[in-house]
Amino acid sequence: MSKNQKIISDKLLKWYDQNARLLPWRLFGRAKPDPYKIWISEIMLQQTTVQAVIPYFKLFIQKWPTVDQLCKSDLSEVLHLWSGLGYYSRARNLHLSSSIINSKYNNFLPSTESELLKLPGIGSYTAAAIMAIAFNKRAVVVDGNIKRVVSRLFFLEKPIKENYREIWDYTNCITPNIRVGDFVQSLMDLGSEVCTPSKPRCYQCPVINDCKAKNNKKENFIPLKQRKLEKNSRNGSSFFIRKGQKVLIYKRLDHGLLASLDALPSIGWDNQVDHRLEFIKKLEKKKISSIKHEFTHFTLKMDIYLVEYLENENLKLPKDFIWADINNLKKFSFPTLMQKILKKIINDQKP
Ligand code: SF4
Repeated sequence: MSKNQKIISDKLLKWYDQNARLLPWRLFGRAKPDPYKIWISEIMLQQTTVQAVIPYFKLFIQKWPTVDQLCKSDLSEVLHLWSGLGYYSRARNLHLSSSIINSKYNNFLPSTESELLKLPGIGSYTAAAIMAIAFNKRAVVVDGNIKRVVSRLFFLEKPIKENYREIWDYTNCITPNIRVGDFVQSLMDLGSEVCTPSKPRCYQCPVINDCKAKNNKKENFIPLKQRKLEKNSRNGSSFFIRKGQKVLIYKRLDHGLLASLDALPSIGWDNQVDHRLEFIKKLEKKKISSIKHEFTHFTLKMDIYLVEYLENENLKLPKDFIWADINNLKKFSFPTLMQKILKKIINDQKP
C-alpha cells in the first residue's frame, strides 16, 4: 500500500468511527461482531436494500438467535418468516447451511474462504464480506456501493458491470491489513450516505481531496451508465377458487421459481410442468382482475380468475392442496406475488 493509499484508508476509518450507520447486526467498541448475525445479514442483503432487510433480520434473530436453533427449525417456518423478502432460495440455503455448520463445525461459522464457499448460498462476494466483517480477516470486498465509490475515487471511466477487475484491484490497493471489517463498512456507508448514485454529497466526504472524479468535476458522470436491457415479459393466470369462506391454496414444487412456497393455483408463467394443476383447465372460471409484477429477469402480467364452488360440492384435491380459511391466510408463506394478488382480490371486492 502506497502512502497515498494509506492516507485514504486512514481517513475513511476515522470518518467511520464517527458516522457509522447503526444497524442491528453491527457492534461497536470492543465487542467482537457475532459471525452468525453477520452471515444472516449478508445473505439477507443479497439483492435487497438495508431498509427492507432490517425488520426481517430482527424477527429472524429473535426467533433463531443461534445456528443451533436455526438448524432445529422447520424449513417451512423459515420460509414463512421470509415471506415478502424475495429470492427464497436464500432461506432454503441458510437452513441447509445451518445443518452443515452444526454437524461439521460444531455450530461455529467457518472463517476461511474455502470453507465458506462450500456452504450453500455463499459466493465469492459474500465469503469476502463475512471474512472481513465477522472475522476481521483481510479480504477484498466489492459490493454495489463500493464499486461506485472506488470508480469515482480513481476516476474509472467505464460502466461498473464492465469493470469488475479494475475496481477489485483498486479496492485491494486501499484495503488495510488492520480493522478490515471497519474499513469495508466505511466504504459501504460512504456509498450509502454520501457518495450516493446521483448528486453525491461531496462536501461531507472525508476523501474529497483524494477523489479524482471530483477533482475532474465528473463526480456526477462516474461510473458511466450502462444501457439498460429491455426485460422480457410473460403472461400467466392465477385462480381464486372459492368455496364459501375457504379458498384453495397449494404448496408449489420444491424446485424452480418460488419453490415450496404457498400459492394460489397459477399456470403459464413459470416454465414449470406441474401435473397437479391440470384440473384447472376443466373449471368454469371468470376473469376478475389482473396485476403486474416485476421479477429480476422478466415482467409478469398475471390475469386473475374467480372459480366458485358450492359449499357441498366436492373436488378431489391433488397432493399438497388445501382449503384455507379466507380470514386466516396470514399463517401461510405466500411470496410477494401471491400477497399482491390476494390484496388485489380483497380490494376489488370492497364496496
Ligand atoms: S468526493 Fe464526492 S464523488 Fe468523490 S468519493 Fe467523495 S462523495 Fe464520492
